[in-house]
Amino acid sequence: MKVQTLLKELGLKKDNPGVYAARWLAGRGREPLASCSPHDGAVIARVQRATLADYDRAAAAAVAAFPRWRDTPAPRRGEVVRQIGNVLREHQEALGHLVSLEMGKILAEGSGEVQEMIDIADFAVGLSRQLYGLTMPSERPGHRMYEQWHPLGPIGIITAFNFPVAVWSWNAMIAAVCGDTMVWKPASTTPLCALAVQNLIAPVLRAHGHPGVMNLVVGPGAIGQAMGEDERLGLVSFTGSTEVGRGVARAVASRLGRHLLELGGNNAVLVMDDADLDLAIRAVLFGAVGTAGQRCTSTRRVLLHRSIAAEFTRRLKRAYAQVRIGDPRAAGTLMGPLVTPEAVADYEQALERIRREGGRILCGGKVLRSGAYRKGNYVLPTLVAAPDDLPIMQEEVFAPILYLVTVNDLTEAIAVQNDVPQGLSSAIFTGRVADAERFLSHGGSDCGIANVNIGTSGAEIGGAFGGEKDTGGGREAGSDAWRSYMRRQTCTLNWSGELPLAQGIQFG
Ligand code: NAD
Repeated sequence: MKVQTLLKELGLKKDNPGVYAARWLAGRGREPLASCSPHDGAVIARVQRATLADYDRAAAAAVAAFPRWRDTPAPRRGEVVRQIGNVLREHQEALGHLVSLEMGKILAEGSGEVQEMIDIADFAVGLSRQLYGLTMPSERPGHRMYEQWHPLGPIGIITAFNFPVAVWSWNAMIAAVCGDTMVWKPASTTPLCALAVQNLIAPVLRAHGHPGVMNLVVGPGAIGQAMGEDERLGLVSFTGSTEVGRGVARAVASRLGRHLLELGGNNAVLVMDDADLDLAIRAVLFGAVGTAGQRCTSTRRVLLHRSIAAEFTRRLKRAYAQVRIGDPRAAGTLMGPLVTPEAVADYEQALERIRREGGRILCGGKVLRSGAYRKGNYVLPTLVAAPDDLPIMQEEVFAPILYLVTVNDLTEAIAVQNDVPQGLSSAIFTGRVADAERFLSHGGSDCGIANVNIGTSGAEIGGAFGGEKDTGGGREAGSDAWRSYMRRQTCTLNWSGELPLAQGIQFG
């Protein structure tokens, strides 16, 4: 699909010469934000950069829209979300292309990301009739006790570049059926994806008379900071690095607001002596090389039982040699570029540290700077033989670097797996039920996600998604994650005509 055709289909029209402006942002003529292709560095478009005053207007719109949205019955809110899901269905191909063009993931993953938006919209529609509260037996006669869930109010959603549209939808679709209004601040490297989404959903919201329910502000980190400090936002859902997330958490906590944190991961796959190596190698390849290692759930460490370590390593190296790297929108490409030249610099620095700290690079370990790769942010996927105490292995490097560590048994594998600050995703490959159960038990993986015989990345929306420790403890998407977006009210209703006190207290 040609870039101009793509942008046109997604309603991205030029307002000022050369500038794609979000029509809902006031103020013209500021220094625009350039959206650059990670494939060749070309400027795809320039986008108006929001100021703090724009943010203030967007937050005010969310505040103003809240009472009517809150009073709209949840199933009717679900109907609006159903129509948003339909619009996304209609434009799945174009939006998937744009994700690929602007962020650099391959087409299949770009389209898969939009599929995730559609799935969560469907999930939220069903949820709109299932925002259940419990009823509890009261200890007092003639009393009924129950809890109910009310909309929280306007919320903030700050998202990372690597899932430029799906992470917003995990939050927005659920928050919308819960009755919240919202302001979204996407990463500044992927503004077009966000504008395209807003262009698609705005007509649906307008048609239902709720234009202020979902608001977008495309701008720098300072806007995210303002959201953290903004008393008007009952919840700030932040997806991004642990370092920035910590600051957001502090700001929100200091005003006693709520935060939902989805931060960095450092995910391991354990491959036991009886593992099906065909499955394990395919899962590790997708987990480590998919999205060029730029998923929060990317596989970063493989813990290999000593008896299969040599064979696994040999076969994985062979698989790495066959990975086709290139234009993410070309058929047959398995790995696209990194998002920015800065990400390439981080990859190079990590390689230096790996060598210095005693890791051994088995393959890859190079930036691609010639031929078709010359202008893009291309690197080779890298395998590193690592001792279990390699210092850099404690950190999340957002690039396709995979550490291979040899372990002697399951006890050691679990200990190494848990011995990092992050706790997002984990997996074990084994045919032994007892080993699988041990890995899943409370003494096993300490991560928010623990899988058996599938890899660390590629979660389904039906489960609650998130992780522990430095990953932030938040849960998004399915299961009962919706509760984060509502306030719980415990109600006791007395129809007895008496006034008995709890705990049998007699007063006066
Ligand atoms: P980042 O932390 O650099 O940016 C995330 C967002 O925060 C962006 O929108 C950015 O503009 C904004 N921001 C920057 N400074 C801010 C500030 N001071 N206050 C508030 N917001 C600010 O992260 P990134 O590079 O875009 O994304 C990669 C990171 O995100 C990785 O660590 C990855 O693991 C993590 N991530 C986690 C999940 C998850 O669900 N756990 C999902 C996707 C990405």
